[in-house]
Amino acid sequence: MFSKKGKLIVFSAPSGSGKTTLVRHLLAQDIPFGFSVSATSRLPRGAEQDGVDYYFLSEVEFREKIAQNAFLEYEEVYSGTFYGTLRSEVERLWAAGKHVLFDIDVVGGLNIKKQFPKECLALFVQPPSIEELEKRLRGRETDSEEIIQQRLAKATEELAYASQFDRVIVNDDLETAQQEVRKAIEQFLES
Ligand code: ADP
Ligand code: 5GP
Repeated sequence: MFSKKGKLIVFSAPSGSGKTTLVRHLLAQDIPFGFSVSATSRLPRGAEQDGVDYYFLSEVEFREKIAQNAFLEYEEVYSGTFYGTLRSEVERLWAAGKHVLFDIDVVGGLNIKKQFPKECLALFVQPPSIEELEKRLRGRETDSEEIIQQRLAKATEELAYASQFDRVIVNDDLETAQQEVRKAIEQFLES
């Protein structure tokens, strides 16, 4: 299925922990990384753009892609809201000679690790506390109260998966977390 192989770097964590922030920082650096744009059936948030942040699909379109086996993995992350990694994204980035960065939920992240045990580094981004996570979700000013409550309720469940990842990065001080991520990835790429 895949012609050329770079590495796969998975970032998983409860929503609001800082995955997007850490991934954006890496994309601005000198290592050839590309971002796997996921598909989702949720609506765009804030300034999100189709094809850049996500491929925004209707639920019907999403189900069609499931039927076509277009996903490497997909999840109904929240009830009625689907997210998935398109096989075509990994192919596109590997063909361009890039290592692929994923910002996906914990189950999806472990699923990719299972499919590519050697090529994949799975990082779990842990918020310093649930209180701080709530603060960050509110500070982002992109979600309704109902969505924030839904995400917080799921966070405790997701934190229990941390030990199954290759590395846990506590995102308290941002700069420290960025350095830790960079070091972990450099070690992995050199190994
Ligand atoms: P995720 O992608 O995991 O949902 P984001 O990267 O969107 O999380 O981060 C959630 C919010 O927290 C954003 O407003 C972001 O600027 C902020 N944030 C991220 N990392 C830190 C940090 N170390 N300290 C304080 N705020 C942070
Ligand atoms: P958000 O709506 O905040 O962008 O994302 C909600 C959750 O869905 C986050 O935990 C995010 O990592 C996850 N997610 C995003 N894309 C994918 C994907 O392709 N697959 C899976 N399994 N989860 C995803």
